[in-house]
Amino acid sequence: MTSEQDRWSRVKGRLRSSVGEDVYTSWFARMDLEGMQDESVRLSVPTRFLKSWIQAHYAERVLSCWQAEAPEVHRIDLTVRTAVRPTVALKEMPAPIEAKRMDGRPSAELRATAPVSANHDALGGSPLDPRLTFASFVVGRANTLAHAAARQVAEGRRGDPVMFNPLYIHAGVGLGKTHLLQAVTWAGNSGSERKVLYLTAEKFMYGFVAALKTQTALAFKEALRGIDVLVIDDLQFLQGKSTQAEFCHTLNALIDAGRQVVIAADRPPSDLESLDDRVRSRLAGGLVVEMGSLGEDLRLGILKSRVAAARTHHASFDVPEEVLNYLARTITHNGRDLEGAINRLLAHSKLNNQPVTLEMAEREVRDLVRPQEPKRIKIEDIQRVVARQYNVSRSDLLSSRRTANVVRPRQVAMYLAKTLTLRSLPEIGRRFGGRDHTTVLHAVRKIEALVSKDAALSEEVESLKRQLQE
Ligand code: ADP
Ligand code: MG
Repeated sequence: MTSEQDRWSRVKGRLRSSVGEDVYTSWFARMDLEGMQDESVRLSVPTRFLKSWIQAHYAERVLSCWQAEAPEVHRIDLTVRTAVRPTVALKEMPAPIEAKRMDGRPSAELRATAPVSANHDALGGSPLDPRLTFASFVVGRANTLAHAAARQVAEGRRGDPVMFNPLYIHAGVGLGKTHLLQAVTWAGNSGSERKVLYLTAEKFMYGFVAALKTQTALAFKEALRGIDVLVIDDLQFLQGKSTQAEFCHTLNALIDAGRQVVIAADRPPSDLESLDDRVRSRLAGGLVVEMGSLGEDLRLGILKSRVAAARTHHASFDVPEEVLNYLARTITHNGRDLEGAINRLLAHSKLNNQPVTLEMAEREVRDLVRPQEPKRIKIEDIQRVVARQYNVSRSDLLSSRRTANVVRPRQVAMYLAKTLTLRSLPEIGRRFGGRDHTTVLHAVRKIEALVSKDAALSEEVESLKRQLQE
């Protein structure tokens, strides 16, 4: 590794711990270092969308992570790797992010954005992975309902009455949302006369924004309305007022016309804080299904299905039962790590021409074994646990009462909501009886200040955290 690449991996490490695993994977996993020169760093991402998103939301963060490793860096040039998108004709100018020193803190400023070229594949749909079908989807306790609903949708025919609309599936990272949605798309498009379109929210926005710029928005809408089933993945990434308004329009138009809409997101509709209430309630008005974490049986099933798939190309590849059991027991985090584990065993056994053994598996997957599975904590859980601890009711916490015995628990609960979940201040305010975000901020600061001085309170807060993380 060159020292530049070394630095880059340290910067990525910083980014990852600063924004958290999920955000990192969504936005930064595909970011590459192109080069460094004097005080500027050139980075690239595969899509324009990623570029503008990162510039709008993370410019400063990226820069300060660089500066922590390389203080001489004052400028980040973010470019789009054009080779990945052959449809993009114009090579984009890098849009520099420059640092200005104010109060000793670097701040990022964005220059005018580069011209956007016409986008002709707005409605081409997002690419599908041929392996993600119903045949390879393993059904278990965590996903029975979601699977059944998805099957039902996939088997519908043109003109059939739609049973649940939209079908909304939510689950944490790597629990099979994309797999299930793509399975619906494959099944729908093979052999039936229906047109099923699979789009990531990113693609929806990208297509829509690009279409607006080239003034083909109408054509885009028309095309969207011409499909029977619209499948949208990762809805939590749908951002921006006009995109959302358009999404809402599209959703209403499709549903009213009796077309099926299937959606996946990492959280329930009520937690999609950036969407407005009308969209949220429309989303919640169909069937909302959560997929739980993968149990050991399900993990074992997924591993077996992966091995079977690998064996169609590599007949000699074999993973002994004891290794499968070991993997299913220890890799508890999500389906992606299971897939990664099998890929590594395959690569290792092919490259070294060695059979897979338990010892080799232990060595190869060590970093995928997480000592403790991070738990997704919900605001309701926080309210419940805090209410119990302080012997008040949950509705007291949400009420406007300002007596001391509810004010403090309410502040503690808001503080925990801010520190243990990814929810924004306005969202937390909304979930605490429609309070303003400044009230939440005040509570968070207050408790932060108190725990550093008040040992008893600090102990209480720690105990609440433990209860919630159990
Ligand atoms: P998500 O979209 O929820 O983040 P994915 O659908 O991408 O998760 O799943 C991550 C990996 O785990 C994929 O390789 C997927 O095939 C696999 N996986 C998850 N759940 C299942 C399942 N029930 N059966 C088979 N494979 C699964
Ligand atoms: Mg996914």
